[in-house]
Amino acid sequence: MKILVQTLLFASLHLPMLAQAAGGSPAEPPESNPPGDGGSTACTDYSVGQSQPSLDGPQQRDFRHFGNRWLSDWYSPYHMVHDEIVAEQEAVTVIGKFDYDWVLHKDLEDEDVHAYLYGSGMSDWEYLGEFRTNSDGKVYVPISGQEAGDYIVRMVVEGDLSAVQGYVSVRAAGHQAVLFDIDGTLTINDAEQIGDYLGIKNADAFYYAEEMVQAYRDKGYQLIFMTARPYWMSSGTRAWLRETMNQAEWHLRTNINGEIPSTATSEEHERYKREYIQHLQDQGIDIIRAYGNASSDIAAYADAGLDTAETYIIGDHAGESGTQAVYSDYAFHFGDVVENTPNAICQGQ
Ligand SMILES: [Mg+2]
Repeated sequence: MKILVQTLLFASLHLPMLAQAAGGSPAEPPESNPPGDGGSTACTDYSVGQSQPSLDGPQQRDFRHFGNRWLSDWYSPYHMVHDEIVAEQEAVTVIGKFDYDWVLHKDLEDEDVHAYLYGSGMSDWEYLGEFRTNSDGKVYVPISGQEAGDYIVRMVVEGDLSAVQGYVSVRAAGHQAVLFDIDGTLTINDAEQIGDYLGIKNADAFYYAEEMVQAYRDKGYQLIFMTARPYWMSSGTRAWLRETMNQAEWHLRTNINGEIPSTATSEEHERYKREYIQHLQDQGIDIIRAYGNASSDIAAYADAGLDTAETYIIGDHAGESGTQAVYSDYAFHFGDVVENTPNAICQGQ
């Protein structure tokens, strides 16, 4: 069943995603916020993605296992690094997942991966060490507490030098954020609801969704894109954020444990989202507004304590349970609400 579903997925998607999986650079954003001064009130530093120096990576050595050499020779890497948001000076563990082939998703087991960190206030990549993948193709990379800012974690497979990167946002307490569900909220079709992610890379966005997201970014809010899409959709989701929404790739949270989406229930989506919001709140993130479309979004946001007066729901469940309704698209909402939202504290009100 898994192979069938993934074969169908493969048939409908395009090869550039595979290239992206190897860690392509984020597209040039339309406008960068001024880089933070390192102070605790700094806004998200989107310039880090553009300023990353070239990495003098590890020496290539043969794979530890012949089967993995064969895998690497015949299939394209489909690695991902799970993004994290963490409080200042708080240690965090970043998970990398290494597998090959969009169809097979064959885990890279028992092989060595080198990890590097670059970000705010740093002039070059810092070597984090060598890690060995487990039976799920995962490595767990501990990162010590950092100054508030934005950081990139790049991981390189020693056996073929295939690479992938993810993002760590280190935030001062009270850092303000706007949270977006993706499927059915920013995209017109709700792939999450029907467990069908066939078209996500090219999914159409609601009218004025891009302008809305950009406006919050220009106002200094941390953008958080939360999706129950399984981890192996992450490169397609990153591509969608980049190409359709014209946004740099961070911060994206996909479900690291997600396998076949059609088996995930609404309750599982809700629990996953609620727990992630609570995790963000534990890190001191102040989610001032949230967007969703599903009844599981409404429940998850409410259970996490988000204000229903600042919860905007589009689609069939718009306005339910005391939430704010967004009708048909974001054009009216943009002028009515988004433009009238003050700047985030980090940019000065
Ligand atoms: Mg949704």
